[in-house]
Amino acid sequence: MANPLYDALFAPHAGKSKDVIIRSDGSRLSYEGFLAMAARMAHVLTEQGLAPGDRLAVQVTKSPEALALYAAAVQAGVIFLPLNTAYTTAELDYFVGDSGATLLVCDSAREPDLRPMAEGHGAQTLTLDADGAGSLTTRAAGKSEHFETVPRSPDDLAAFLYTSGTTGRSKGAMLTQDNLLSNALTLVEAWRFTGDDVLLHALPIFHTHGLFVATNVVLATGGTMIFLPGFDLDRVLAALPQATAMMGVPTFYTRLLDDPRFTRELAGHMRLFTSGSAPLLAATHEAFEQRTGHRILERYGMTETNMSTSNPYEGDRRAGTVGPPLPGVELKITDPETGRPVAQGEVGVIEVRGPNVFQGYWRMPEKTAEELRPDGFFITGDLATQDAEGYVTIVGRAKDLVISGGYNIYPKELEEVLDAQPGVRESAVVGVPHPDLGEAALALLVPEPGAAPDLPAIEAALGQRLARYKHPRRIELIDELPRNTMGKVQKALLRERYGQAFTAPAK
Ligand code: ATP
Ligand code: MG
Repeated sequence: MANPLYDALFAPHAGKSKDVIIRSDGSRLSYEGFLAMAARMAHVLTEQGLAPGDRLAVQVTKSPEALALYAAAVQAGVIFLPLNTAYTTAELDYFVGDSGATLLVCDSAREPDLRPMAEGHGAQTLTLDADGAGSLTTRAAGKSEHFETVPRSPDDLAAFLYTSGTTGRSKGAMLTQDNLLSNALTLVEAWRFTGDDVLLHALPIFHTHGLFVATNVVLATGGTMIFLPGFDLDRVLAALPQATAMMGVPTFYTRLLDDPRFTRELAGHMRLFTSGSAPLLAATHEAFEQRTGHRILERYGMTETNMSTSNPYEGDRRAGTVGPPLPGVELKITDPETGRPVAQGEVGVIEVRGPNVFQGYWRMPEKTAEELRPDGFFITGDLATQDAEGYVTIVGRAKDLVISGGYNIYPKELEEVLDAQPGVRESAVVGVPHPDLGEAALALLVPEPGAAPDLPAIEAALGQRLARYKHPRRIELIDELPRNTMGKVQKALLRERYGQAFTAPAK
């Protein structure tokens, strides 16, 4: 009996002495060692009473062992549920309770705090980074490195992945084996991954980007990953010469460009740089090409859909766009009111259908019914246009759209002008209640270090570029934009912090 995900990502590499992971200290882990580690862990999971379909919650520091636990869950038919390492005990309380996880694997430093919480939900806890009775690692050490892979069908759930919580409470996206596998195979083909690739992996492994996109593509081809604990510039620069490809979020690229040590000599040999999770500014794209000779390949995806579009590997990688839909993915841009496709080039909501699309939100039937149409199209909530050649340009999230006096203001359009002004490092535009207009745009500017942006000059630049109704009604200077681990600007937080309502004009 088969287990398609295990059979595609892991089983073909049994016994291979080739490296799967190079750790940040330079030490190496072979496929053979990795798969033996996973099999031993799978024994512990079943011994712990986890049956196929049970949820395994995991909040651990990034490590090869953490990735082996993913392999173990797949092999044991258990649903893998990775959780952001930044989550507090109170937040985990929600995720463990909501998911009905029966086991929580965590870092030993957090265990005393998390155990009572987990027990309150009837879940056990084990650690991964320490030795002793409560350690999964210690328990696994005594187990056989052979584990009878639990059969699964393509439609069985393989993972629950909670969304990033950028726009509200995180939702548990239910992903099947086929959702993950079909996307991995599509990306291998689209981005020409082979067993010769060495991926510089500096992303966290609790999101779809770092876990399913980055590691699945490498595992599907038998390649190697350089596993960095996070995006540390020194370590990234030191690892680049050994790598062939890197997947990143836009902040990785802006930080590399800020460092004069990042040169064409260092990056020229690379085969591929990809970007996603948040918009890559056209200016970053161009600066990167000037510095390295490479055009970053931008793609678009989300927890619920895996990857949906990608700029081409060969062909025109267009700055500011996320490319056409990937093979097998149907995409349309619809009017949020009527649900009907908009005319070409007009802004609407991206809807996506295909084997990549998730099964719904765990325990949220109403939310699922609102966003997942009966015909299989998923309403992403992202606003975009699509051109004649299929290229998609994201203009922002529907939730961030500012509707001012009946007019739509797309924050990204304003942000692009603001970001290009002298002395401005970056900007964010949010909608704030306004007594006459309903909502008005508030622009938050982060100055370049030591710079004082010239506000009248900025207003003049806006006047030249954009219609008056789009202009921000207030501009404020702030020290930095709050971002989450994936480099996404947290607009809800900005609205909370700076978005006091505009006051009515004095009578
Ligand atoms: P939540 O749904 O909980 O509010 P989230 O949408 O940020 O959080 P994710 O699934 O991690 O959670 O992120 C997917 C979103 O990231 C997409 O819907 C889109 O808004 C954004 N995104 C991903 N790739 C890109 C890209 N290349 N350009 C612009 N936005 C992107
Ligand atoms: Mg989302």
